Amino acid sequence: MIYKSRTESAELLMFKSLGVRMELPEKDKLHYLSLQKGYDGEVMFDTFTEKLQSECLILNDLLFKINNTVFQIDSLIITAAVIHFYEVKNFEGDFYYESDRLYTKSKTEINNPLTQLNRGVSLFRQLLQSLGINMKIDPSVVFINPAFTLYQTPLDKPFIFPTQLYRHLNGIDKTSAKLSTKHKQLAAQLVSLHCADSPYKQIPAYTFEGLRKGMLCFKCASISLAVVGHNCVCGECGYVEKVGEAVMRSVKEFRLLFPGVRISTRIIHEWCGGLLSRKRIKNVLEKNFKRVGVRQWTFFE
Ligand SMILES: [Zn+2]
Repeated sequence: MIYKSRTESAELLMFKSLGVRMELPEKDKLHYLSLQKGYDGEVMFDTFTEKLQSECLILNDLLFKINNTVFQIDSLIITAAVIHFYEVKNFEGDFYYESDRLYTKSKTEINNPLTQLNRGVSLFRQLLQSLGINMKIDPSVVFINPAFTLYQTPLDKPFIFPTQLYRHLNGIDKTSAKLSTKHKQLAAQLVSLHCADSPYKQIPAYTFEGLRKGMLCFKCASISLAVVGHNCVCGECGYVEKVGEAVMRSVKEFRLLFPGVRISTRIIHEWCGGLLSRKRIKNVLEKNFKRVGVRQWTFFE
């Protein structure tokens, strides 16, 4: 059973918006690409774990802070006897393993995911200790991409390759022990300790003035929405969305990028690229927010 689901991080959502609204510097483009690829891999892993039938609690995408150290866990599966701990990697192509290091085929060394796994497991164990929980942790790095090959892999490494994932999860399904309230309490505690927003984001500098204005399509994220009656229609993919919903998505996007700025009809009108009259923008804001102040001082909370 999925106890905590995965959502796109604030950092990824910010990149999705900025990637359309400005020209990203090359290094940020690469970072965005790797965030997206990592997220896609994790979502792919979820499509496997969500099929588990046995009694277990699946917690995806957790971020904890312990002794001023922040660490992230891609997925946990709590079963009666053990907590499975997963680091998911969406590497693609041919790699090789040598003296505890990982290289691409062109001999470029990349971070060994085992280092990250060991750090995460050690911090997670400390977290469990602080909660007075003494359960066995079973850590693995999951290579989720079917087009990934790792040559010279030693047999004793906790790696799960795409060809082994089904068997691994099947093994979990065969353990039929019942969960107790202790397990459910632990899952609830972990979710309550989860920090929703990572303090470490690598976002390029941007200003309101410097960003392209307009509304992004819900489906394809292109910035070519046109207003037709009560709907917004995407010029790229043809997706149709109610005007109110499209405006509220744009407000949400604005708030993510400019958390300190007050929402007013004027600023959202401009943010949406002037596609809608101020009156329509105002109507949407009034329906969804509490109005504070009068006339030109009006803003929405
Ligand atoms: Zn579209």
